Amino acid sequence: MKLLEGKVAVITGAARGIGKAIAIKFAQEGADIAFTDLAIDDNAKATEVEIAALGVKVKGYASNAANFEDTHKVVEDIVKDFGRIDILVNNAGITRDGLMMRMTESQWDMVINVNLKSAFNFIHAVTPFMMKQRSGSIINMASVVGVSGNAGQSNYSASKAGMIGLAKSVAKELGSRGIRANAIAPGFIITDMTAVLSDEVKAEWAKQIPLRRGGTPEDVANVCTFLASDLSSYVTGQVVHCCGGMNM
Ligand code: NAD
Repeated sequence: MKLLEGKVAVITGAARGIGKAIAIKFAQEGADIAFTDLAIDDNAKATEVEIAALGVKVKGYASNAANFEDTHKVVEDIVKDFGRIDILVNNAGITRDGLMMRMTESQWDMVINVNLKSAFNFIHAVTPFMMKQRSGSIINMASVVGVSGNAGQSNYSASKAGMIGLAKSVAKELGSRGIRANAIAPGFIITDMTAVLSDEVKAEWAKQIPLRRGGTPEDVANVCTFLASDLSSYVTGQVVHCCGGMNM
């Protein structure tokens, strides 16, 4: 029996990067996949095709995770199409870096809305269905900088610290309903998000990693699969660092 057989997973921001790797790993473990992204563009269509080839049901939905109404509408559509939701991964995220005194209000608002409010939106929309089932696993994609802070990323770090507080609070509030909530704190993961960093910055990060390599999206997907599956049935309110040992 595969780890996620019979389960329906919702993953936000999964047209590429870490979200896509999670969707593929979940599908390999037998889950049906409903994923969202800003648009169902060529990336999203390719993700759909790759997942369908694994023999599970899959559908991509265009949705701005930062928008409350949009999110509730898409969750209703997913329940109509798939019948239930067992796993929610709040993965959609962006960076808009800048030193504190140079950061604009719009940089702050955008990052907080896309990275943190989005998770509130999806948890708010999905929880009634999980409560009826009396089971569910919610996973918030945080970051090591949500624990350690990072110069030039006050908006991003605050949003990721918020993802940790949100997961811990939901774990306390909904544990009695059979719903678990955890966070993953990835370190430096090689994706389009980090590809834009200069070689200097990448070398600086590499020095801080005891395992001496950047992480892959699959490294994060493996941790996420553990938290989504019944292997972690007594784990809730936790932050799992997936960072090659940095910031320990
Ligand atoms: P990425 O930029 O490659 O992918 C992010 C995806 O989210 C994209 O497909 C994008 O279109 C989508 N997205 C952006 N805004 C959205 C919105 N408003 N609604 C719906 N979808 C939206 O990034 P990634 O590196 O794969 O990161 C995925 C998650 O992991 C993010 O939350 C990121 O903060 C977190 N993370 C990444 C790293 C890293 O080193 N790459 C480290 C720690 C945490």
